[in-house]
Amino acid sequence: MSKLNLLDFNRKALRDYFVDLGEKPFRADQIIKWIHQYGYQDFDQMTNLSKAFRQYLYEHAMIKPPKFVREQVSIDGARKWLFQLQDGCCVETVFIPEEGRGTLCVSSQVGCPLGCCFCATGKSGFQRNLSVAEIIGQVWQVVRMLSKAAGQHDRSVTNIVMMGMGEPLLNFDNVLSALDLMTDDFAYGLSKFRVTVSTVGIVPEMDRLSKESEVSLAVSLHAPNNALRDQLMPINKKYPIEEVIASCKRFFDKDSKRKISIEYVLLHDVNDAVKHARELVKLLNGLRCKVNLIPFNACSGISYQPSTPSAIENFKNILLAAGVNTIVRKRRGHDIAAACGQLAGC
Ligand code: SAH
Ligand code: SF4
Repeated sequence: MSKLNLLDFNRKALRDYFVDLGEKPFRADQIIKWIHQYGYQDFDQMTNLSKAFRQYLYEHAMIKPPKFVREQVSIDGARKWLFQLQDGCCVETVFIPEEGRGTLCVSSQVGCPLGCCFCATGKSGFQRNLSVAEIIGQVWQVVRMLSKAAGQHDRSVTNIVMMGMGEPLLNFDNVLSALDLMTDDFAYGLSKFRVTVSTVGIVPEMDRLSKESEVSLAVSLHAPNNALRDQLMPINKKYPIEEVIASCKRFFDKDSKRKISIEYVLLHDVNDAVKHARELVKLLNGLRCKVNLIPFNACSGISYQPSTPSAIENFKNILLAAGVNTIVRKRRGHDIAAACGQLAGC
């Protein structure tokens, strides 16, 4: 019989499993802590469990993260890891250190089925969804590697964004379980404001996320009207822009303090004109959000060009003048193909 991978369980699922075994549910709390806070893989190190229970776990369970293959470090300090999964598929994970914070960018799928035409992940095709263990296992590996590198027990991951390979809302249940662990005080204990799911706007799942989780949302808009968005992102034909914005507004129903950011990749002579900025201002009217303007990152086989610095500045200023909170995202990890949209898992 194959062993259960305990990285596949959030605390609630592990409690249910232990109760079925006739164990006390709080054993799950203890084990989740050993796994995610101490980074242990060996049941013998879990000293507050009885010897018999450790033996049972040893026979029936394992803690198996994706296998570390390679680390690349950018001149700007960003790091990218390649992990190999059981079936040989690979995913990438990126860490972006900044003054006072460290953001981990986690993958949710091998490739992506949505084929946005400016994105290397989209161009690489789609293999499959990641399991919970493969999603949270990226965090598990990186937290261990970073704390070893720093020679300290400290966590340097302060924020997590589901902005790696794939569309997280197409792998809803597994992503939700992994989000639980990211925000669980017995595991990684991050605030719901510091964990963000990025989506192209899969409307039914956006609505589900707003009900079933409290994390923040980033919506990849990239165009202010359907005609242009249809060209850039095929999914817009299924979930047009007005439905995406309406869902963003519903996101605040449960908790008005939640955070939404709108992502907008600036493509030279495609979506970066003054008229697009004005149209975007109108579209976002009435939605409390922050806009992240992302300068396009070049990828091989993709013919778009980045906007000029003055076009970026103009675009930003039009939004700011209209009272829209806007920042231009700093490009990080470009030299190791770790910047937004460059992850291809190879
Ligand atoms: N599938 C989700 C999560 C991936 S996040 C989503 O699309 O939101 C990756 C972010 O980088 C998205 O906002 C995406 O649109 C953006 N992106 C993709 N290709 C890019 C590129 N070549 N340059 C800059 N940003 C890009
Ligand atoms: Fe998929 Fe996001 Fe890339 Fe579009 S931008 S292809 S949804 S990963």
